[in-house]
Amino acid sequence: MEKYNAVVIGAGPAGQSCAVRIAELGGKVAVVERDYIGGICTNWGCTPSKAMIESAKVAHEVENSGRYGIAVDQYNIDFPKIARRRNKVIRKTRDFITDLLHHHNVDIYQGKAEVSAPDTVKVKFGKLNNETYQMDYTGEEEILTTDNIIIATGSKALIPGFIDESDPSIVSSHELITIEELPEKLTIVGGGVIGMEFATIFSNLGSQVTVVELLPRVLAMMDTDISAEITKIMEENSVSILTNHKVTNVGGVLKAINQDTGEEVTIDSPMNLIAIGRTAVLQEDLYDRLGLDYTRKGIEVDDTMQTSIPGIWAVGDATGKSILAHCGIQQGVVCAENIMRKVNEDPRLMDYGVIPAIVYSLPEIFSIGVVPDDLSDIRIVKVPFAVNLRANIEEHTDGFIKLWIRDHQVVAAQAIGYMVSEIQQELANMIALGTDIDQVARVVHAHPTYNEIIKSALEYAEGKAVDFYL
Ligand SMILES: Cc1cc2nc3c(=O)[nH]c(=O)nc-3n(C[C@H](O)[C@H](O)[C@H](O)COP(=O)(O)OP(=O)(O)OC[C@H]3O[C@@H](n4cnc5c(N)ncnc54)[C@H](O)[C@@H]3O)c2cc1C
Repeated sequence: MEKYNAVVIGAGPAGQSCAVRIAELGGKVAVVERDYIGGICTNWGCTPSKAMIESAKVAHEVENSGRYGIAVDQYNIDFPKIARRRNKVIRKTRDFITDLLHHHNVDIYQGKAEVSAPDTVKVKFGKLNNETYQMDYTGEEEILTTDNIIIATGSKALIPGFIDESDPSIVSSHELITIEELPEKLTIVGGGVIGMEFATIFSNLGSQVTVVELLPRVLAMMDTDISAEITKIMEENSVSILTNHKVTNVGGVLKAINQDTGEEVTIDSPMNLIAIGRTAVLQEDLYDRLGLDYTRKGIEVDDTMQTSIPGIWAVGDATGKSILAHCGIQQGVVCAENIMRKVNEDPRLMDYGVIPAIVYSLPEIFSIGVVPDDLSDIRIVKVPFAVNLRANIEEHTDGFIKLWIRDHQVVAAQAIGYMVSEIQQELANMIALGTDIDQVARVVHAHPTYNEIIKSALEYAEGKAVDFYL
């Protein structure tokens, strides 16, 4: 049997990008996937959630269309149709990735992979059951021999031990993303990124949504102004947000204790989403047998993406470095280039310095770079979207952009506002490249655009704003 240069376990974004890049560099690659091609991102995460957020966004626009002179007296939410569209988008994306892998002559094995030795992967073949989304194993097995193994097994929802997962009212994002009927009420445990995105989807489609968060604010990893703004906007949109509440029971009736007053609140919902985080998918027994280092967070890797065993690499959520597809994609490419590098070539190192984090809420939120603990030499600039012409024309003036600046360079940036995911890359590039503010502020930005707010904020930081004052 032919020996592979690399066998990748898991066909999510990290595994897929790694496999394609190895193939581009001339390597013979196989991917083993026990579920659908595309991983969590395509089938249960990024793609379906954003497909449903698009429907939520349209519902929001229709609800508010009167202000643009378009009266829509009556409209209805056809949730089964929204679900069908979501499923169509997933299938199209999955087919696109499958075709891409075929185009690069990547062999695809459908089944569960086990690392038997640093050069051997055992595949237990199976067929996916489209009704149950479970793998029906055929009993057949095959051993693949390879120079390199890449573990790209992803992550799964974290469900705390006191929660009874067999209770039908309790769901993780994995189940909620596949539902075909709109729940009348939805309670979300966890006000992080996934919790806030599901709150956006279901509140705008008509469910009565409550978010229960243990910490004093939602999106606690972001700036306090961002948390306050999204809380205000969501509450105006009928989402109930209980912060500082510790959930003690979820099955049947949800119970939570107010951490300030000690008072217990009860919420009766037919559906409770547990969105308190995600954890790496690990095969601990196998790793112990091989002597592969891992922690509870994920598989330990260096910046070349190599694990503690030469020839075994890990990428994506399985490393616990980040739970973001674009971080995994970059890790996959870095890993591939290190596997295929020539003897005299320097290794390519993964840089975690600038990984944009986006919340696809209404309005959207981004965070780039690291806000320094010591702010003594930092200038903070906050500019509201109310000064941006395009935002005023289109009546999307909620929100602001906030920059942390040291020595005429942006070190961190956060924003909340209409479609800010589409304007953040300019700042990400500036932070990553260490660009001087003036260099970018001098470049002509098209008018009127949302993107102009970046130029406005940079000019304001330098005392040169010509289009607004605060
Ligand atoms: C609801 C939701 C929304 C999200 N939205 C975004 C977003 O908008 N943007 C973003 O950047 N990130 C988002 N994420 C996170 C993103 O989905 C993950 O960061 C990304 O999928 C990680 O990619 P990965 O390749 O590491 O793993 P995964 O996508 O998890 O893929 C791992 C694959 O490995 C397979 N596998 C595991 N073990 C084995 C085995 N033993 N044998 C064979 N196959 C195996 C699994 O079946 C899976 O298909 C979201 C996540 C969720 C849950």
